[in-house]
Amino acid sequence: MVFAVQCPNPKCRKFMLVEEHDLTKVVSCLLCKTPIRVGAPPAAPPPKSAPQK
Ligand SMILES: [Zn+2]
Repeated sequence: MVFAVQCPNPKCRKFMLVEEHDLTKVVSCLLCKTPIRVGAPPAAPPPKSAPQK
């Protein structure tokens, strides 16, 4: 599975596809070499502080 990321460089804005296993890494833009932090996939929401007994 691949995900689309966009280069943060306002002069570039290139869309790239990254593999699922690269989601937690920082990739470099193919054009301008700007590091792109892909970001982790949406994880489970943090547990609320509801008391569980
Ligand atoms: Zn770029």
